[in-house]
Amino acid sequence: MKAEAYQQCIVPSCGLKYPVGEARVYCARGHLLDVRYKNSFPKYLKEVFYGRRNHGGNIYNESGVWRFRELINFSQINSENLSQCAKVLVSLDGAEGRLSRPYKMTKVSEFVGMKPSKLFLQPEGYNPSGSFKDNGMSTALTHAKMLGIKKVICASTGNTSASAAMYASNEGIECDVLIPKGEVAPGKLGQAFQFGAQVIEIEGNFDDALSASLNEVKKSGAYTVNSINPFRLEGQKTIVYRVMEHLKWEPPDWIFYPGGALGNVSSAGKCLIELHEWGWMKKVPRLAVVNSEGANTLYNLYNGKYGAKLRWNDGDVDEELIDDYYQYVDKNKIKPKTEATAIQIGKPANMLKALRALEFTKGVVTQVSDKEMYDGMSIVGLNGFDCELASGSVPAGIKKLRAEGVIANDDLVVAILTGRQKDPNVPVRYHLDPNNRFANPPKGYN
Ligand SMILES: *Cc1c(COP(=O)(O)O)cnc(C)c1O
Ligand SMILES: [Zn+2]
Repeated sequence: MKAEAYQQCIVPSCGLKYPVGEARVYCARGHLLDVRYKNSFPKYLKEVFYGRRNHGGNIYNESGVWRFRELINFSQINSENLSQCAKVLVSLDGAEGRLSRPYKMTKVSEFVGMKPSKLFLQPEGYNPSGSFKDNGMSTALTHAKMLGIKKVICASTGNTSASAAMYASNEGIECDVLIPKGEVAPGKLGQAFQFGAQVIEIEGNFDDALSASLNEVKKSGAYTVNSINPFRLEGQKTIVYRVMEHLKWEPPDWIFYPGGALGNVSSAGKCLIELHEWGWMKKVPRLAVVNSEGANTLYNLYNGKYGAKLRWNDGDVDEELIDDYYQYVDKNKIKPKTEATAIQIGKPANMLKALRALEFTKGVVTQVSDKEMYDGMSIVGLNGFDCELASGSVPAGIKKLRAEGVIANDDLVVAILTGRQKDPNVPVRYHLDPNNRFANPPKGYN
């Protein structure tokens, strides 16, 4: 099945269109772009996707991303022709998205105050580079390859660079990664080196690294694989497809994400808008975003903690309010500060897309402390699953919204655990301190 695709500005009153063969970050008026498809998609594809789980040695069926290739077919291949797929689609031997699907975790349910049958967690850390970023990086690199790109670039708190470097090296494409010096978990930095990327250290935080990398994109025409790249967000839609497939395409009441640059929640929003448009689901799950208290721009703006409540408003967003807020934080030297470095972001690049997602899904935004994230991360561990501190925000956020009654007793909740632990010192420190709720300190043998 061929899908005719194009790029379009997300702001309805602007709506500028571009061909998929163009690499650009913004429309000519500076707005973010979507990848769009001319046709809608028939529901019988659900059976096709399910059937591919019996993959018969075909890596594009084994991949939890490319198994859904009809719905992200911006490269406009005939997706049934496997030799054509092999020439076009970028995959790490089918490993992306292969192991991540919703799991029940009874101890997490107990921790958040829900029935075990009502909570699923999806460990996206079980991707080849150890985070959800692989879902989107396989599609971003597919687009880069389509365009004959020689070098990709990204700013990163660590996982984006690990993922970009992994796919780029496998494709023989160069990769520059800009990281905030001293703020990246050692396991993530190690991967960037190991996969042959050129690491560039920036004095400052992630927001500084992102603006430096986007300057480079403007200057040199380098190809960005940060989440403002709409082709990356296409791949991240498969996170939601896997949730939906596991639930036999009956939507849950809630889907939870941690909020950093807000690419992931934006991608989920676009995915849900499309599924609704195509008539694949009637009910729309509500998206819940969990910010760290130390990096809570979306929480503040969405909930009216700084002036009016910021809303998508059919694309007519009060951007002055956002600018005002950024001026206020800059003037008062308020820097994003959390030990969960993956979400230590003060100026989320996908703010507008996230607002669109929240509006369509009647979403909510909450915030949690580092201490709450530590407990959330640790209770996931007690179910035999591994996640990093930023992902611990999700059980912590569910617990909070359940206690506040925002989540009802009978609601079905799915939560995305975004990444694997890449700094072993984090759990070691936690467990050595007996004051921590789930601490499991060592003892002598006597
Ligand atoms: C990148 C990342 C996030 C933040 O995702 P956004 O799309 O930037 O909001 C959260 N957790 C982990 C582990 C990540 O790597
Ligand atoms: Zn525009």
